[in-house]
Amino acid sequence: PEIEECVERLSGSGLPRWEDLIALLSLEDEEELQPLFLAADTRRKEVMGEVVHLRGIVEFSNYCERNCLYCGLRQANRQLQRYRMTDREILDAALTVQEAKVATLVLQSGEDSFYDTMKLCRLIEKIKGETGLVITLSMGERPREDYEAFREAGADRYLLKHETAVPALYRRLHPDSRRENRLMCLKWLKELGYETGTGCMVGLPGQDSAALAEDILLISSLKADMAGVGPFLPHPQTPLASCTAGTVLTTLVVLALVRLTCPAIHLPATTALSVLHPEGRMKALAAGANVVMPDFTPPAYRRLYDLYPGRTSVPQDPLSTLRTLESELNRCGRTLLI
Ligand code: SAM
Ligand code: SF4
Repeated sequence: PEIEECVERLSGSGLPRWEDLIALLSLEDEEELQPLFLAADTRRKEVMGEVVHLRGIVEFSNYCERNCLYCGLRQANRQLQRYRMTDREILDAALTVQEAKVATLVLQSGEDSFYDTMKLCRLIEKIKGETGLVITLSMGERPREDYEAFREAGADRYLLKHETAVPALYRRLHPDSRRENRLMCLKWLKELGYETGTGCMVGLPGQDSAALAEDILLISSLKADMAGVGPFLPHPQTPLASCTAGTVLTTLVVLALVRLTCPAIHLPATTALSVLHPEGRMKALAAGANVVMPDFTPPAYRRLYDLYPGRTSVPQDPLSTLRTLESELNRCGRTLLI
């Protein structure tokens, strides 16, 4: 089918057509894809405006009890030096986020039961009380009661990527967790009134265009408020060390398709994309993305939050990230929301 026609149909209301998604996901020529990126950028402008939203992320523990095949934090990676931030350190990092005039804090970690329900609730209450920040949590699968307690303590949002929508691929990548449970968690989070984020990796081994089309349809059917879409990057200390990374182009295509099929969703330009390409962030912001997540983890810990290689090669000092971003955005007529 004609590319322009596919883009036009996907930009309309109604359920996205499978054939259109596949046709666009199968293209590999950047020039040919321009109508898609342009349509996504236009839609982003119409629905979300010119502001770029900021989320300050604090990665408070790199301990994890899981063994997701792709992730450098997996428990079986014995070469990684582990850390846990104290309550004081986490609160100080939150105060730095507040001082930088970033309105939302994202607290992320591996699945680490050291931080039990009580400990986390006290921490959330304290951060909320002292900073008034919007609090997003991203710490994996927990029982419904935990999500409920965190919500009562003051958490507003939760990020739990579905990672891949394809059951067989999900099983292969997650020896110790089940897709059904992850989707159940997402359902609980919505029921409890969290603004809920999901998302996927792009370029996972064995993930074809049909698999990515499934991801886009799942994000749409979950009615997610946010979707994290970034390339898969092989980590040397994981079983996927020798696999090929996802590409910038395919990641941008998925971002653009998510923008067209879920016009009001929040879409971050991910750090993983900046690792693949020095202009990854601006490319994402021109293909549908409207969120940036500067990293406020103290530098000594940041380098140990080693999900995928190359993170340290990206300049990550949050204040310089904000300054660069501001000048990049000014050049294209967009502004930071502060
Ligand atoms: N433990 C929580 C969880 O899994 O939801 C939150 C932290 S986890 C490190 C955050 C995200 O990192 C995951 O959702 C996954 O998509 C991403 N990630 C992990 N390893 C990756 C890799 N090798 N390449 C790209 N993204 C990766
Ligand atoms: Fe743990 Fe999350 Fe990494 Fe899986 S993706 S190993 S749950 S930190």
